[in-house]
Amino acid sequence: MSNAEIVSKGQKYVMNTYGRLPMALVKGEGSKVWDADGHEYLDFVGGLAVNSLGHCHPKVVAAIQEQAGKLLHCSNLYWIEPQVELARLLVENSFGDKVFFCNSGAEANEGALKLARKYAKKNYGPEKYEIITLKHSFHGRTLATLTATGQEKYQAGYEPLPAGFKYVPINDLPALEESMGPATCAVLLEPVQGEGGVHVSDFGYLQKVKELCQKHGALLIYDEVQCGLGRTGKLFAYEHSGVEPDIMTLAKALAGGVAIGALVAREEVARAFNPGDHASTFGGNPLAAAAGVAAFSAILEEKLVENSARMGELLASGLQEFCARYPFTLEVRGLGLIRGLQLKADGRLIVDKCREKGVLINCVGSDVLRFLPPLNIGPQDVEKVLQVLEEVLAETEAV
Ligand SMILES: *Cc1c(COP(=O)(O)O)cnc(C)c1O
Repeated sequence: MSNAEIVSKGQKYVMNTYGRLPMALVKGEGSKVWDADGHEYLDFVGGLAVNSLGHCHPKVVAAIQEQAGKLLHCSNLYWIEPQVELARLLVENSFGDKVFFCNSGAEANEGALKLARKYAKKNYGPEKYEIITLKHSFHGRTLATLTATGQEKYQAGYEPLPAGFKYVPINDLPALEESMGPATCAVLLEPVQGEGGVHVSDFGYLQKVKELCQKHGALLIYDEVQCGLGRTGKLFAYEHSGVEPDIMTLAKALAGGVAIGALVAREEVARAFNPGDHASTFGGNPLAAAAGVAAFSAILEEKLVENSARMGELLASGLQEFCARYPFTLEVRGLGLIRGLQLKADGRLIVDKCREKGVLINCVGSDVLRFLPPLNIGPQDVEKVLQVLEEVLAETEAV
């Protein structure tokens, strides 16, 4: 089928929840993808931070093929070898002691919120349930996680929302201090906000957030669904500040393109869950977990964290040069290979023009260009994107 045929069939049968582009992707390899009409693109959207190993990484594909022929699914009534191995990898490479697996970022955050509330109830009593999150955050689309998301556009129309959530601006300590008290159960934040426009939490701020959490007996939860797993140039984004959370959530890149989510917690916190308290039918299933083991091992063995840091610097310095030359390019934000270019122009037009020239990038809001390429790109990929962007910016006008 052609792009046009797939689009019209989709419009007939699929719910209209995504503002989709009029094209269908049918094949991917490394940093490249092809649409149904045979056009080739350099992919700096990267499945919105899922395709950190590029498309169809051979080790992930082989692990999926092998596991699919051995055991596709069994219940969490039984132990699953790839699941326990992925848990070991996560624990031995992070602050955490125990892992729970689910299937998505929203589910991971939902689980983190449930764990935090159980922990608070057990240790402090029933009145400690408030969750504080940041404005412009993004934590998912379930009712609790869209309530945790500090952006009204995601909440509108779904009221009444679950109770017990408060929002404060990023990097604003007085506001946080003001909002915390004996009822505070947890502070949930992304060390680097993705959907909210690529905003980085100051490292000093995170240190103070942790101290406030300790003072009030509240847990610190990091949502590293987008910024974790090498994306920022460290294996986990919290390593930049050195401020460890009590709970961390992961998903997106964790299984190299297969659906999975995880929450990682300190032992004492993890103990708040007892058998029957939380579960997921597909969570940590053999197929996803085997893909996860392959993907996580590839990130470590192929030194992709280091490459993410290096390529991130190259990309950021190229974007920085635009800021010096084009008055409507205002600021470069981010770490490693999660980068945002703040515009005073309509970013969506720039995204369209880049696509026509064979480069996929993404725009968050209407005025932040976001770059989430695979972590194993080379300098030639970065240079290609910068060159295409240069051509497009030269034709662009400020709004
Ligand atoms: C994508 C994302 C989520 C939601 O993940 P889903 O898998 O879409 O449920 C949560 N938090 C952050 C930071 C994300 O980027």
